[in-house]
Amino acid sequence: MKPLAIFGGTFDPIHIGHLSVAWEASEQLDAEVRLMPASVPPHRSSPTASAEQRVNMLRAALRGQSRLTLDTRELDRSGPSYTVDTLDELRSEFGERPLVLLLGADAFAGLRSWHRWRDLFSITHIGVINRPGVEACIPVELERAVAPRRTDDPAVIRGQPAGRVIELAVTPLEVSATRIRELLAAGRDPRYLLPAGLFDDPALLAPYREQHSPR
Ligand code: ATP
Repeated sequence: MKPLAIFGGTFDPIHIGHLSVAWEASEQLDAEVRLMPASVPPHRSSPTASAEQRVNMLRAALRGQSRLTLDTRELDRSGPSYTVDTLDELRSEFGERPLVLLLGADAFAGLRSWHRWRDLFSITHIGVINRPGVEACIPVELERAVAPRRTDDPAVIRGQPAGRVIELAVTPLEVSATRIRELLAAGRDPRYLLPAGLFDDPALLAPYREQHSPR
């Protein structure tokens, strides 16, 4: 069965790093990939753009293709959205379909700080995406938990609903939302670090540009 992969994040804003790794992960796993914006990220400070603004940017970015889709369920929920709760919900919805949680290497290295992190393995597979500039130092406790679960075969992921960890080697793109916010706030125009659709409507990037007060 075609796996369903979830790529969560703040997407503040969505950038070509997110899109390119999600696309390549989808190709490697032969999976449908859903981009899932987080409302109240448990580990993060508040996003610059509102939930609605981030969704509008995601919609503009995803236009014209169908491999990557948008899932706004975490925004529709009140209170903090823990990934494990979202995955529980998806598991009830999709029965035995393989689920894959896609995580950048930086996010994966910090997995132990996540709510009920050990329970994740009974609900989902994890796909770890390399990220340039991130020296993924996996804590011993985490490596001990994942070592017996590692596989490098996408067929293994497709063959069972959950429980395995696969490293996905994707084309490295050293792009971060932090850097893009800095550039926009400084009055710069990072045109080719962002999907073209974000430039179609000046309102989309306004939340980041408003911080720029020309001297
Ligand atoms: P920020 O700079 O605000 O921290 P970000 O660019 O890391 O943002 P997030 O929305 O926090 O973006 O990221 C969501 C997911 O995408 C995380 O798992 C993160 O590791 C991954 N990710 C983001 N940018 C890249 C990239 N260039 N290459 C690989 N993975 C990435």
